[in-house]
Amino acid sequence: MGLEEKLPSGVLLTTVEKLVNWSRKTSMWPATFGLACCAIEMMTSGGARYDIARFGMERFSATPRQADLMIVAGRVSQKMAPVLRQIYDQMPEPRWVLAMGVCSSSGGMFNNYAIVQGVDHVVPVDMYLPGCPPRPEALLDAILKLHAKVMDEPLGPKRAAALAESGHRTELI
Ligand code: SF4
Repeated sequence: MGLEEKLPSGVLLTTVEKLVNWSRKTSMWPATFGLACCAIEMMTSGGARYDIARFGMERFSATPRQADLMIVAGRVSQKMAPVLRQIYDQMPEPRWVLAMGVCSSSGGMFNNYAIVQGVDHVVPVDMYLPGCPPRPEALLDAILKLHAKVMDEPLGPKRAAALAESGHRTELI
């Protein structure tokens, strides 16, 4: 059961891990940038109709140093790949990456020399979202699934070990 469901009873027993992860998932700020057409749907999710702010994400951060989530919205060209990696490296831990759309997930229909065949060649990906383009509802669904994943993440050295095991970054947090 989630923390929110336990609150109405007036008594809350939890663990430090759950509390920290709950605060992380309810204030996950995405970095502001889009790469191609998928970005239009990502921007739409920030508008009044879909209202991404409901999930603590009303602030798209203009600096990677204050961002927790990289939404890779669109195809990644070979020229853009080192820039994208630099942005990722500037984001503080803990950080997460969501590959939005078939292009960023696998290269999609752009099976050619100019496009990276999946952004996981450049940065570790925590959530893949298929579609061309995925609708804002699908993006919100992927974000909620990422939130659920974050709730189960260990902290400190355990987290570093789990990330290293899955081929992710290894910094201690
Ligand atoms: Fe554009 Fe479709 Fe690729 Fe998204 S998945 S960047 S909408 S071509």
